[in-house]
This record gives sequence, structure tokens and C-alpha cells, in this order.
Amino acid sequence: MPTDMKGKIVAIDFDSTISHCPAWKGVGVFGKPIVNAKWALERLKDMGALVVIYTTRREIPLVAAYMKENDLPYDYINFSPRNVEQKLSDKKIAADIYIDDRNIAFRGEWKDTFLEAVNFKRWEKKDQEKAISK
Ligand SMILES: [Mg+2]
Repeated sequence: MPTDMKGKIVAIDFDSTISHCPAWKGVGVFGKPIVNAKWALERLKDMGALVVIYTTRREIPLVAAYMKENDLPYDYINFSPRNVEQKLSDKKIAADIYIDDRNIAFRGEWKDTFLEAVNFKRWEKKDQEKAISK
């Protein structure tokens, strides 16, 4: 396990990655924190990573309040200093690593990626399907 994440920017999605969100319930409505989210955020911060929460939500002050209330450490929401330093577009958060419940990692092989994409199911959605079939 790497012991140093110094200088690495880790972009982390909010809904269904930090906060439970099996289905959209509206502006400012958040689920409970996902097990070990706090643990992982604390480790990343301890290891020197810069943690950026990225979300399509517009209610950023409410997301910030949620993070604070639940003791979830982070550096920025929807902002990466690298976008400014490298004069990049602000349409995508610049990061070294993206953690997202809707992500498929591209590892240089398009046929595998294509199969993962067409078979993709969100993890919280999978839980719902299991619950219904029981
Ligand atoms: Mg999400």
C-alpha cells in the first residue's frame, strides 16, 4: 500500500459514493454517509492527498454542511487548484484519481471496457434489485 499520496488530487463523487443515494430524492436531500467513507477520506488526507468532492448538485453550501456535520474531511467541492494552475477548462475537475459509483476504469483495452459499459449497474441499484428479488 502506498504510504504517500502527497500532491495527488483525488476527485470523489458525492451521491452513492460519499452519501447513500439509491434514488434521487431532491435538492438538499442526502442519505447517510456510506460505511468507511470517513475512514478513507481521513487516510487520504493523512497521506497528503488533496480531496476534491465533485458533484452535479447545485446546492454546494448544503453539501459542505453535510460534510462538516458528518466529520468528513475534504479540501474543495467542485474545484481543483490544478484547473487554475494549468489554465484548464473548469468543465472537468482536474485530478489524478477519480472515485465514482458510475465509473468504469479504462485500462487501455476497448473491448473489455465496452462489455463493462453495456453490463454496468450502479452498486446501490444492484442492492435494490437483490432486495426486490428476495
Ligand atoms: Mg454518484
